[in-house]
Amino acid sequence: MEPFESTTAAKSPSLFLLPSWTKADDRLTAGFSSRLGGISASPWNELNVGLHVGDSAEDVVRNRDLIAEALGWPFEAWTCAEQVHGSRVHRVTAEDRGRGRESRESAIGDADALMTNEQGILLASFYADCVPLYFWDPRREAVALAHAGWKGTVAEIAVRTVEAMVEAYESQPADILAAIGPSIGGCCYEVDENVLRHVRPLLEELSAHGIAEAGSEERVAVNPSSPGKARIDLKEINRQIMIKAGILPTHIEITQWCTGCRTDLFFSHRTEQGRTGRMASWIGLGRGAARA
Ligand SMILES: [Zn+2]
Repeated sequence: MEPFESTTAAKSPSLFLLPSWTKADDRLTAGFSSRLGGISASPWNELNVGLHVGDSAEDVVRNRDLIAEALGWPFEAWTCAEQVHGSRVHRVTAEDRGRGRESRESAIGDADALMTNEQGILLASFYADCVPLYFWDPRREAVALAHAGWKGTVAEIAVRTVEAMVEAYESQPADILAAIGPSIGGCCYEVDENVLRHVRPLLEELSAHGIAEAGSEERVAVNPSSPGKARIDLKEINRQIMIKAGILPTHIEITQWCTGCRTDLFFSHRTEQGRTGRMASWIGLGRGAARA
């Protein structure tokens, strides 16, 4: 069953929420924004939340605030990092709250994963095809969010994030729930040898660990479409890496939404050849101060 459920209200941002988690704990929010319901002009229409893609900063900040408003969270709680396709995990505390929400200069530097166990902090990161990974330890009341493009996937950012949660919050991997959000599917993500030579050793290792189930190779590296190229499924690879990190397969929810197929709903760097906006993933505990 599709874990991300679309919510649409007139003239407000169209968002994808994770009801299976928020029904289990109504102090939690987790989701992904669509491209619909914001104020940005083409090619960032409409709900662009990326400050680094040439759009007006004022419009981007307004779009972010619209999302916060729709969630019933204060915009001051939005906390973002400068994503660099690495695998560093940053532990977010009250001192970081609000960093990067209005400018890139104030963002947390060099971090593709954020985690916190503090209430009232909304961790946010930005996407156009890369894979958003969500982590929630209900026992230790900690959350994390990781950005996995092919580089972050090869660097096993899901493993790094789980290790960081174990270290910082004494999480047990078997307690952690995970979700894999809207991102590019194997249907739309063809890569060449420059990427494949990094991905292949990882796939071999996952296979050697017995994590890849029978037949899953097909979903991971789909029919070589032309010589030297293959289509890969980053969502499935990240699911297997989560299992390697100790997360139970039954604790992982994975979306069917492909950003490349659905540019009516999502921005896609690949399908739109780089001229597009960014969507947000977010996760947070508690609600912080009520909106003024
Ligand atoms: Zn697709």
